[in-house]
Amino acid sequence: MTDIAPYWQNYVDGAWVDGGAGRLTVEDPATGEPLAEQALADAADVDRAVTAARTLHLSGGWSGLRPVERGRMVQAMGRYLLDHQAEIARLLTLEQGKPLWEAEIEVAGAARYFEYYGNQAETVEGRQVPLGADYVDFTVMEPFGVSAQIIPWNYPLEMTARSLSAALATGNACVVKTPELTPLTNTWIARAAEAVGLPRGAVNVLCGLGSEAGAALSTHDHVNQIVFTGSVPTGIAIATAAAQNVVPCILELGGKSAAIVHDDADLDAFETDLRWGIYFNAGQVCSAMSRVIVHESRAEELVERAAGVARGLSVGPGIERPDYGANMGAMVSEPQRDRADAMVRQAETDGARLVTGGRKLNRPGAFLEPTVLAGVAGDMAIAQEEVFGPVLSVLSFRDEAEAIALANGTPYGLVAGVFTRDLDRATRAAAQLRAGQVFVNEWYAGGVETPFGGFGKSGYGREKGREALWNYVQTKNVAIRLG
Ligand code: NAD
Repeated sequence: MTDIAPYWQNYVDGAWVDGGAGRLTVEDPATGEPLAEQALADAADVDRAVTAARTLHLSGGWSGLRPVERGRMVQAMGRYLLDHQAEIARLLTLEQGKPLWEAEIEVAGAARYFEYYGNQAETVEGRQVPLGADYVDFTVMEPFGVSAQIIPWNYPLEMTARSLSAALATGNACVVKTPELTPLTNTWIARAAEAVGLPRGAVNVLCGLGSEAGAALSTHDHVNQIVFTGSVPTGIAIATAAAQNVVPCILELGGKSAAIVHDDADLDAFETDLRWGIYFNAGQVCSAMSRVIVHESRAEELVERAAGVARGLSVGPGIERPDYGANMGAMVSEPQRDRADAMVRQAETDGARLVTGGRKLNRPGAFLEPTVLAGVAGDMAIAQEEVFGPVLSVLSFRDEAEAIALANGTPYGLVAGVFTRDLDRATRAAAQLRAGQVFVNEWYAGGVETPFGGFGKSGYGREKGREALWNYVQTKNVAIRLG
């Protein structure tokens, strides 16, 4: 038993409400035990939330504020999260499974988005277009209106913060549909909106089934823009719904991202990249380094080092892992764990060598040992399909062209990396890799300031950085004929 509140409501039109679809039981993936109940929204709840957002938008009560005022409130939401960091992190660990220190990083990361985009609110400006002496012409960057945001379970707080902060800073009113597996933590986003005094309707946060509330939101007539982070099949369904209503849509989908490791790479340093790249959040990261493509001359050494990193991680309940270090928590659910486990079995059948890990822990909870597979070929399912778990696939190459072909040889293209001391090689690779972000000599180099998003089936549109702001505004041109 925990001291977590037994029941969590949705937040619609500035009020805490039950759900028309009843309640959902949220489980602790580290024990498999029920944690709390979450109100479950139906289509009518979604309609109320969209109507509240639209009413606020049409009133100008949010979009009409001076941007610096909006920006200050957005920043204050981030500070509110930081003020409650310990409490939020604990809840996040209990519902998602990650170690407590990782949950603290996620809360800080969410707060950082509110800081960054709050700061940007007053930088969104149009331009003057010269049309000669008889006209004055200028552009205005207007918010779309109602922004619908559909969130995945792996980083529930950070993913919400990422889109919500930019959407609010640019003057949109938002409806957030939280994930069924990890809905509780996002209650804190609604609390933050309430605490800093956002007008009612600016932020609505509700959980509901994807097939019901998610579908109702993405097909709603009065939604003006959609942000979706999640799997490819759901992304296609949402893009189809957006097309039916002719509204723009941002898709942040999965990945099968690769690090190319050349013969001159610093493998000591690369151990840190392995640790963060594939075992952070138990590998449930869209931009995980799920493939390493290493020069054949260093393959054996790299596999040994990777196995050492994997074996060095202490795996168990996140709540018992408060300190930054060599540890890993549960996966989000037993079905997710079993799916990853089945993919490892299939890889062995396909001819990959299981170097370490690949077994469920002999205890309750959704645990999978940190896993390394060697001798993986580019056409195996394990090299093509996203595992979304702590499973590293090691492939090898002979020459640069083969390395690039392997790295680019999946339908995805989210991020990629190249590890070498040779600047020419790194620069060539950066140009040739088909990915939205390329890391040179450090996986996850970058931050909230650097644009992120996919090529290919990893999606379209960019989050993070200045680029993300342009997803949330539309250009209006005003041409004035002088008398
Ligand atoms: P998912 O697609 O199953 O669900 C994501 C969200 O969509 C959930 O809130 C779900 O309720 C909702 N949903 C499901 N069906 C829907 C429908 N028909 N209409 C509207 N909404 C619907 O994904 P998931 O399992 O929660 O997350 C894992 C996936 O997300 C992985 O593939 C991962 O790579 C991807 N992901 C990508 C990023 C990124 O930024 N690129 C970040 C995190 C996760």
